[in-house]
Amino acid sequence: MTLSIQQTIQEADRCVACGLCLPHCPTYFKTGSEADSPRGRIQLMSAVAKEILPNNDRFKAHMNACLSCRNCETACPNGVRYGALIDQARVITAQTNWLTQLFGWFAGKPTLLRYSSQFLRFGQSTGLLSLLSKTNATLAKYMEMLPVLTATQSWQACYTAKTSKVGDVSLFLGCITNAFDAETLRASIHVLTHLGYDVHIPPSQSCCGGIARQQGDAQQAKTHIDHNIQAFQNTWPVLTVASGCGAGLKDYTSLPVQDVSDFLMQCDWNHVQLNHLDAHIALHEPCTLRNVMKAAKPVAALLNKIPQLRITPMKGNQQCCGGAGTYMLNQPEMAEALLADKMKWLEQETFDFVATSNIGCAMQLGSGIRRANRPINIMHPVTIIAKQMGFQSELD
Ligand code: SF4
Ligand code: SF4
Repeated sequence: MTLSIQQTIQEADRCVACGLCLPHCPTYFKTGSEADSPRGRIQLMSAVAKEILPNNDRFKAHMNACLSCRNCETACPNGVRYGALIDQARVITAQTNWLTQLFGWFAGKPTLLRYSSQFLRFGQSTGLLSLLSKTNATLAKYMEMLPVLTATQSWQACYTAKTSKVGDVSLFLGCITNAFDAETLRASIHVLTHLGYDVHIPPSQSCCGGIARQQGDAQQAKTHIDHNIQAFQNTWPVLTVASGCGAGLKDYTSLPVQDVSDFLMQCDWNHVQLNHLDAHIALHEPCTLRNVMKAAKPVAALLNKIPQLRITPMKGNQQCCGGAGTYMLNQPEMAEALLADKMKWLEQETFDFVATSNIGCAMQLGSGIRRANRPINIMHPVTIIAKQMGFQSELD
């Protein structure tokens, strides 16, 4: 829900400044500055909304440094809706650079985004991108974030159940997932149809609006949300494979949105045989999955279905990886500091995979892993499950 100025003041005033949220805030942990804590940010928002303080560059800097991870929200005994407050603050502090503007523009043009991903795929496979990356450090950094790209897909309106039908679900594609990680969507369809579900993909669905909202463009975000409300008119569960998208849809629609792993854990697996996998997985927990979708636990339970698989939750899972949508592009220093903590832990043990349920986190963690030249695959948990059910990945 978008807050008016009056509602912002009312919500901010519900903060009793107890400070219980402070130890849960990654930016406060890193800077030790009250203005980079949830309590400090709420005080600043309130003061600016009441016109006690100006909406100046210092205010913007403290708002823009917030990851929107919403750890603070879950720690707050008063139930202050920090997510709604920071979304509103972003409207008045809109922060963009050329790259996030480009991202936002592309997010509204999924077909173009998909074609661009194929151009990048060509660059990856021919070595052109790595050649270009050697000429420019910034470009190299951005290219590091890209997963190995696969072919884009023209989606059917419906993929029918491969076994006795038990139900219907809708699948949310997501603009970045559809362009850069169609493999996870194909894997999800594989698992769902083999469990007896017809998987519907409404062609008129749109971006979740998350990038526009993060840029402070509430109008554009609302346009995307309205498109999705129209597109998913039935009552089937709307499954998301990127928790960032799921969180936005959950916050701003009343659609029956559910994380795909969470849904799969509620399915009947009695007739399904999963092949064993002798591997060690570091399980990453996206903030949006834990704090907004409230669906982090089912992911481990789902992966536990695979015989012989060893799963270790990533240490410090409660701390954001620094991906946070376009944060990694806008706030590179803090994003790098948070990523360094994850990499430090990953280096302490031997892992074959990092499993994460959000494309933004996969890109952020992937950039660290590629830079460190570690032989670790990053995969969506459902892709790992699908492969143990016979799914043929383009990357195998
Ligand atoms: S959303 Fe995350 S980074 Fe922002 S104030 Fe809350 S805990 Fe801190
Ligand atoms: S825990 Fe809640 S009430 Fe306490 S300071 Fe943080 S936001 Fe305010």
